[in-house]
This record gives sequence, structure tokens and C-alpha cells, in this order.
Amino acid sequence: METDTAHAVLTIDLAAIVANWRALKARHPSGGVAAVVKADAYGLGARPVAAALHGAGCRHFFVAWLEEALAVRDVLPGAMLAVLGGLVPGTEATYTAQALTPVLCSLEDIDRWQNRGEAILHVDTGMSRLGLAACELAALAADRARLDGMAIRYAMSHLVASEVPDDPVNRLQHGRIAAARAMLPPWKFSLANSSGIFLGPDFASDLARPGAALYGLNPTPGQPNPMRSVVHLMVRVLAVRDIPAGATVGYNATWKAERPTRIATAALGYADGYHRSLSNRASACFDGTPVPLVGRVSMDLTTFDVTDHRGVQPGSWLEVLGPHLSPDDLAAAAGTNGYEVLTSLGRRFQRVYRTA
Ligand SMILES: *Cc1c(COP(=O)(O)O)cnc(C)c1O
Repeated sequence: METDTAHAVLTIDLAAIVANWRALKARHPSGGVAAVVKADAYGLGARPVAAALHGAGCRHFFVAWLEEALAVRDVLPGAMLAVLGGLVPGTEATYTAQALTPVLCSLEDIDRWQNRGEAILHVDTGMSRLGLAACELAALAADRARLDGMAIRYAMSHLVASEVPDDPVNRLQHGRIAAARAMLPPWKFSLANSSGIFLGPDFASDLARPGAALYGLNPTPGQPNPMRSVVHLMVRVLAVRDIPAGATVGYNATWKAERPTRIATAALGYADGYHRSLSNRASACFDGTPVPLVGRVSMDLTTFDVTDHRGVQPGSWLEVLGPHLSPDDLAAAAGTNGYEVLTSLGRRFQRVYRTA
């Protein structure tokens, strides 16, 4: 492993992603489990992640945009590769040429896909972003000829608040989905995202679409995380200095030493997706014990109080994400969710993919 010269090393455990996919399959016996690899597999690298899952037998993949599908098509031979974002006018021939599956999100999408083969049909049951509204479904049901020459492989919908099992919107959506399906031919259905898989049998379908849980985010917030940890980010200490009581650290002097303090400056900043909102609020780990972040996160540098960790020296490594410090933990400190932490992970890290 060529890490000697690296400032930061992001290790991505492909074996853990595969193990998470298998665990989700075991929890979704009603049907298949796809892999959502949009946004570069939530920042972890769509090509290596998709190839690893394909190698493990996964045959259904979703991305957000056509460009993302084209970037992974060749590593997914024989697999369904569907584009969630709808059928942009003028791209139909590319879908056909590359054997991609459009997710039709409107009556206009449907009309443009006539006589072009397989598709997925998105039904909106509460997100109000993409998908056919109830009145459009009624129009479609009254005019089935619009579906001529296409095979709907799945109808699908997307849950609004699956990570909050008690949210009444889950029941509401369950009812709306039943009503929508009653208007349509008996197509297979695709429903649950990661957290939806944990909502129980009422939300099971022919094809679940997890993303987050594959990448180790907790699909059951507030409960122990059933998924394996996937990312490990280690960053280098560039400098260590002792400052007297009263000295301040970083831009705008937002932190002042109450005692003589030892500060470690690490090679990490908001340009690496280490959110500025973590300033004075997060920790890293040295040898498994927390070291508090002090002062502002700047573009390339972040400062930690290592007064109680005499072993920290220039060249030492701090753990920023890993088994002791999950992306969900970092997200809580930053005031966001684990999805944003993962998709923000920077491009400057040396990336190492573990396969065993
Ligand atoms: C992103 C996305 C998913 C995956 O959601 P997770 O919460 O990451 O499991 C599933 N379906 C649709 C439509 C999505 O946009």
C-alpha cells in the first residue's frame, strides 16, 4: 500500500458493502434487492462498488442520471441498470443502444418511450418530486394504448420518511400505493429504500432499492446499526505546537486555550468534505481515543487538542471516520445526515479499496 507520501487515506471496504447487500437480501425475502449507486455510489466510487456487487450476484442497479449509467454500464454485463431521474427528451436512443432502463416519471416520458421496450414506471405517492401523480395515473389507466410497445418491468414509488417508523406518512403512502396498483395492470412493484426494508412486511416488494445501508449508514436511526462499517479515513498530522493559556486557534479566534495546550494541525479541511459546521464540535481519534476539534475547520487544515495525547507527532495519523467514528456520528456533529457526509468526501484522499 503506497501510503508513505499520502496526506490522507480513505479505505473503502468492498467486502463490507457486499456483506451489507447480502444482509439486506436476507431481510427482504419477498423479492430482489437492487443496489443504488447514484452520486458515484454515495461518494465511494461507482465503478469499484458496482463491480463488487455484480460479482456477488447483484443484477439490478439504479443511478440518478444517464451520465452515471454510462459510466458503469461496462462493469455490469447483463444487469438491469435503471436511471431514476426520468427520460430527458432526446436521450431515448442512448438508452436503447446501451441497454439502459429508463424510469418513466411523467406522461410525456411514457409517450416518448412508446415502442421502445422495457421501462420502470414511477408513481408519486407523497414526495412530489418525480413520478406520475394520481390524476396522471387515472389518465393512463383510461388510455392504456399509451403503453403500446413497452414492457413495464416494475412500477415503483419512493418512501417519504421510512427512517421514522412511527411517522403517519408511512401508513398514508401504503394506502396510496395500494390504490395506485389497483388502477394498473398487475406489474411487479419496487418500493423500499434502505430504511424501508426495516419497516416490515407491509413495505416489502418485488425489488428493494437500498443505497445508504450498503455503505454502512444506519437505516434504523436511534437503534444499533445493523450494517457493517465501510469507510475508514485516516489523516496525517502536519505539525504539533504548544500554546500558552489565552492563545487562540484558527480563523476568527473562535477557540481560546484555557490552559497550556498542545495543538495538532491535520491535513484535512472543508475542501475535503470535512464540513466547516464541524468547527469546535467534532472529534477525531488517536489510538482509539477521542481528540477534540478546536477552532474553525479551514480549507486544508483542521486543528485538534492533543494535550492529553503525548504520542501525537508530526506524521502521526488521526482517524476521522471509521469503526470508532461513523459517518452518522460526524453528520450529527455537522448538523446534516450521513448521506451528505459520504457524498461530500473529497477527491484529494488516496483511495484504497479492500476486497477481503
Ligand atoms: C436515493 C434513492 C434510493 C436509495 O435510498 P437510500 O435511503 O439511500 O437507501 C431509493 N430510491 C430512490 C428513488 C432514490 O432516489
